[in-house]
Amino acid sequence: MSAARQNPANDSGSLLRRAPKVDLHVHLIGCVRSGTVGELAKKHNIELPMPANELYEHINSDPLPEEHDHGPWFGLLRVYDDICACLRDQEDFARVSYEVIEDGLRINNTRYHELAFSPSVHFGHGVRYRTMADGLVEGIRAAGTDYGVRASAIVAVDREDTGDVARAMLEEVVAYPREEIVGVGLDYEETAGPPEQFADAFVLAKRRGLHRTAHAAEHDPWARNVTTCLDALGCERIDHGYHVLSDRRVVARCRDEGIPFNVIPTTSRRATRKWRLGAIREMLASGLFVTINSDDPALFGFSLNQEYLLAHAGDGLDLNVDELLDISVRAIEASFLDHVDRAKYVREFTEWRQAHAGR
Ligand SMILES: [Zn+2]
Repeated sequence: MSAARQNPANDSGSLLRRAPKVDLHVHLIGCVRSGTVGELAKKHNIELPMPANELYEHINSDPLPEEHDHGPWFGLLRVYDDICACLRDQEDFARVSYEVIEDGLRINNTRYHELAFSPSVHFGHGVRYRTMADGLVEGIRAAGTDYGVRASAIVAVDREDTGDVARAMLEEVVAYPREEIVGVGLDYEETAGPPEQFADAFVLAKRRGLHRTAHAAEHDPWARNVTTCLDALGCERIDHGYHVLSDRRVVARCRDEGIPFNVIPTTSRRATRKWRLGAIREMLASGLFVTINSDDPALFGFSLNQEYLLAHAGDGLDLNVDELLDISVRAIEASFLDHVDRAKYVREFTEWRQAHAGR
């Protein structure tokens, strides 16, 4: 009889599920409960393409739409925009951020989130930046009081905007600083344009003390976007980044500089999941600093715990429990927490590990 059978509470899956974690790449909108979307749509008289509780099942369905003839299909960013349209006032932003933190703690034991949100999409629905910021801060503080866990927020530039629009958005952000809003990111469709057009916005962010991160080399099949994000945007870490592997010189630089890559084993079409697991394995084998995150857990129906479990037992990665617990502790170093809070989290996670995993 295996050790896991003798003591199910200590089998590898159970340990990974219960282990404390941080989630450094997670979109606020990608975590909204479908029930909340339905209630907010009703509150603001917004018509969704189908009932909210059915909507998520049709995101990025496989096989691809041109090849199938069964049922509706919605691209991820289309549903993302539908959800954004339902958040109109401070109370909505507070509710959603509170629920994200509550769910992360309950499902994954996520002790710290860095929640990305995209102001320019909400501007399109008439929401002011201060409304979003105040709502997020209210939700983060309420969850902190109720559950004793921390969260921060990252303002994301929509790369489908122009550089001027991004700069104007950052000016609003720095004119209304909030302690919980700690960084700027870059998201949406990577093939829409090169990251260098957002250099002004990122330089302003750096000058005003905001951290920097960016989705890069996720869809663009070259490593150049990683280099541009590091050099022109001053990014301290990279979101996704799998295509960095296309240039060994960039890989060597990122390894030598200890650049963190926030990867997510899923959150793409199922057909590419195996490729992504293989890429993450190669990134680790190349000595890159990798953290595991959830991205859009509600939309894909795949939690941070499931990402860890897939990294443990998935076809193509197969990390053992020790390697995954190493990743969960080291991820704290990649966070935008200050060094005092990082040290506190490292101590807390290490003590849990010693008590439950024996090392
Ligand atoms: Zn993302």
